Amino acid sequence: MDAVTGSRRVVVIGASAAGVTAVKEMRGKNGDIEIILIGDEPHIPYYRPYLTEYIGDPAVVNKSNFHILSREWCDEQKVELRLDERIVALDTAKKTATGSSGARYGYDALIIACGSSPFVPFPDSMKMKNVFAIRTMDDAERVHRYAGGVKKAAVVGGGLLGLEAAFSLLRRGVRVSVIELSERLLPNQLDGEGSRFFQERISQRSLSLHLGKRITGIEGSETARGVALDGGDVIDADMVIFSVGVRANAALAGGAGIRVNRGIIVNERMETSASDVYACGDVAELNGRSVSLWMNAVRQGRIAGLNAAGERAELGREIYPAVLNSFGTRIFSVEMCSAMEGAPARETRCVEAGQGVCKKLFFKNDVLAGFYLIGDIAESQRLLSSLKAGISYGDVREAFPAFS
Ligand SMILES: Cc1cc2nc3c(=O)[nH]c(=O)nc-3n(C[C@H](O)[C@H](O)[C@H](O)COP(=O)(O)OP(=O)(O)OC[C@H]3O[C@@H](n4cnc5c(N)ncnc54)[C@H](O)[C@@H]3O)c2cc1C
Repeated sequence: MDAVTGSRRVVVIGASAAGVTAVKEMRGKNGDIEIILIGDEPHIPYYRPYLTEYIGDPAVVNKSNFHILSREWCDEQKVELRLDERIVALDTAKKTATGSSGARYGYDALIIACGSSPFVPFPDSMKMKNVFAIRTMDDAERVHRYAGGVKKAAVVGGGLLGLEAAFSLLRRGVRVSVIELSERLLPNQLDGEGSRFFQERISQRSLSLHLGKRITGIEGSETARGVALDGGDVIDADMVIFSVGVRANAALAGGAGIRVNRGIIVNERMETSASDVYACGDVAELNGRSVSLWMNAVRQGRIAGLNAAGERAELGREIYPAVLNSFGTRIFSVEMCSAMEGAPARETRCVEAGQGVCKKLFFKNDVLAGFYLIGDIAESQRLLSSLKAGISYGDVREAFPAFS
């Protein structure tokens, strides 16, 4: 609490989905809180999922929903926005955060929303000028520029992000090799039939898929020449992009003595082990799980913001769909990991191969447990609501006649 003005000050570290939502939520509840939003990127906060599209076409920045905050809003709402400032140390006893500029920010409440970073299995290879991982707009800009002069790229990781990046490169006329450890594409979102169906849909001369392959290193010294595979093969490439998952940026909190596992451990109120310190988004770990999805960061940011503003809010359970929108098709997949786990689930399907449509529902104990839709996602929201409501096999057949 500021002794002179009596106002409460909340400092938010990380200006993206979770941090920006926390700020908006706080301001919506309380016009008097002093709010400082600090981010280490130099750019006005933006919608990160657009970055894979950006590497194909930077004009995506002109979309009306590319930015998620504006300087004007911050000025109007009296939110102090500090960009290009990295918090390098926290003192939870003195309640201060120290920035790379040397500035020290005192707080009454602190929200840590500093996200995650790409996991790179061969970190030294990142020193090579043509090896990349995409997390920030600056990363996407570097990939975009470099891709202009190359013929062949290797994308390590055949998950949603890797495939979206591959698609953007293909559209620029680059030949792309995707290397995936699993025997099939999107193993967490599709079953075997769905993966094969999708693979056939996206097959084209410029795209080669290397499934069930482990990489053993990146060939080259200053410049990567290719990706080495277990077994001795090398896939030639003029550039390499890693897309094999993320790790929470939890070291800042861990260094300050806040309880950290893989992410910063929080409860349903987004409280950490330190008093008046909250964490939310990719950096947070709730019930042993970190979720790296935009909507999760938004929801957690809302809860952290409300609690930091003095309200009492708890995160309820939520189910997040995985969505892919590239290669001229769309995929909407919900709870497929748990639906495929354990005893074989009862299935019902609707396949119109000529139309590029493959839809499957999975039931456990006769209740809808997961589903995916490829090519036609018109019923995605209705199915999602039905799954959340615990719809039975019999009721699905009535409500969704295409599956009977
Ligand atoms: C290319 C790409 C595509 C994606 N596509 C999708 C998608 O289609 N759907 C989906 O649901 N999710 C997608 N995601 C994931 C989604 O973007 C993240 O889950 C979401 O951005 C997490 O938000 P966050 O606010 O927790 O963290 P982040 O968005 O990671 O933001 C954290 C911010 O904090 C900054 N920061 C870190 N440390 C410090 C520090 N010490 N001081 C100051 N600032 C700091 C970081 O630089 C960053 O700006 C995608 C991610 C990427 C990279």
